[in-house]
Amino acid sequence: MQRSSSAPLRRGRARSAVATLADLGEMRLIERLGSLLPREPGWVVAGRGEDDTAVLEGPGRHLTLLTCDVQEEGRHFERSWIDPRTLGRRAAAVNLSDIAAMGGEPRVALASLMLPADLELRWFDGILRGLGEGLAAYGAALVGGNLSQTAQRLAIDITLLGRVTRRRLTRRRGARPGDRILVTGWPGESAAGLALLQARAPRGKLQRRHLEPEPRVRAGQALAAGGVTAMIDISDGIATDLSHLCDASGVDAEVDLSDVPVSGVMRRAATRLGAEAHAWILNGGEAYELLCTAPPRRVARLRRALGDLPLTDIGVVLPARSGRWLLHDADRHPLRTGGYEHFAR
Ligand SMILES: [Mg+2]
Repeated sequence: MQRSSSAPLRRGRARSAVATLADLGEMRLIERLGSLLPREPGWVVAGRGEDDTAVLEGPGRHLTLLTCDVQEEGRHFERSWIDPRTLGRRAAAVNLSDIAAMGGEPRVALASLMLPADLELRWFDGILRGLGEGLAAYGAALVGGNLSQTAQRLAIDITLLGRVTRRRLTRRRGARPGDRILVTGWPGESAAGLALLQARAPRGKLQRRHLEPEPRVRAGQALAAGGVTAMIDISDGIATDLSHLCDASGVDAEVDLSDVPVSGVMRRAATRLGAEAHAWILNGGEAYELLCTAPPRRVARLRRALGDLPLTDIGVVLPARSGRWLLHDADRHPLRTGGYEHFAR
C-alpha cells in the first residue's frame, strides 16, 4: 500500500477499495493515532508511540511511567500450552518488561480480564495467583481492574504504572554514533521455544523461556544507573526493536552476529526444526530482553553491574544516513526488520 498514514480512508464502491487495518499495519496505525486525537497536555513527557511507556511529570521528583499490554488466547498463547498460573505471571512480565526498558520501578497494576463463562474456576484462581506473584516479585501490586464476559477466547489486559527519577529515565532516543549495541540474556531462545511449542516437541528449557519470560527489571535499573544512552525491550525481535531505537535516536547501526553465542540447546532445536538460529535471534519476538546502547568505555562496568546475566555486544551505532547493516559470514547485508507486526497481512 502506498497510501500515506495520514490520508483519509476512502470509501470506494468496490470492496477492495475499502481500507482496512491490514492495509496499514501496526506501525502506521500508531502514526495515524496522532492525527485523530487532540494534542497531549504539556505534562506528558513522552506520549503516544514515542517509547516503551508513556512518561508523565510527577509526583515530586519522580516521573510516572504508564503502559498496557494484552495476552490473548489464540494469538499470544494456547490454553493447551500453558497453565493458568504461568499465564498470569506472563501477563505481568510483558508489562514489567516495558517499565524495565525505561530504567523504572513498577508500582501498581490494573487487570482487565475478559473471560468465557464456562472457564473452569481453577483458571481464574491460577491467573490471579500468577498475576499477583509476578507483580510482587518486582515490588508491584494489583490494585483494581475489571471483569467482563467474552464469547470464547480469554484475554488478560494489564495496565501497569511505574516511576523513575528524571536522572534515571532511559529513553529510546539518546544513542550516539560509536556507542556499542548491547543485549541482555538469551535473545532467540524464546522464539526457539515458540517454534518447539508449535511443533509439539517435548518440553524443555526453550519452551519455558517462551512461556515464562523473566522481566529484566533489576537489570534495567542497573543499566540506567550505569549510564546507557538509550534502551528498549525486545518484544518484536532485535532487528525491529533496534530500528525503533535508531529512528528515535536519529542514528543508524551495524549488527555483527559472529560474536553472538548460539547455545547448544538452540543449535539442536534449529537442526531438529530445520530452522536458522540466527533468524530467531534477529527476528524472534517476545524475547523480553533489553537492548541498549552505551559508549565502549562503559561496557565493562555495565557487565559487572548485571552479575550473572550476560550482556552481549552485538554491534555499533553509526551516524545518520550510514544505513542499517548486518555483518554475517564476512558479508554486509541490509538489516531487514522481519519482526512481528500486528494487523499486517
Ligand atoms: Mg517495549
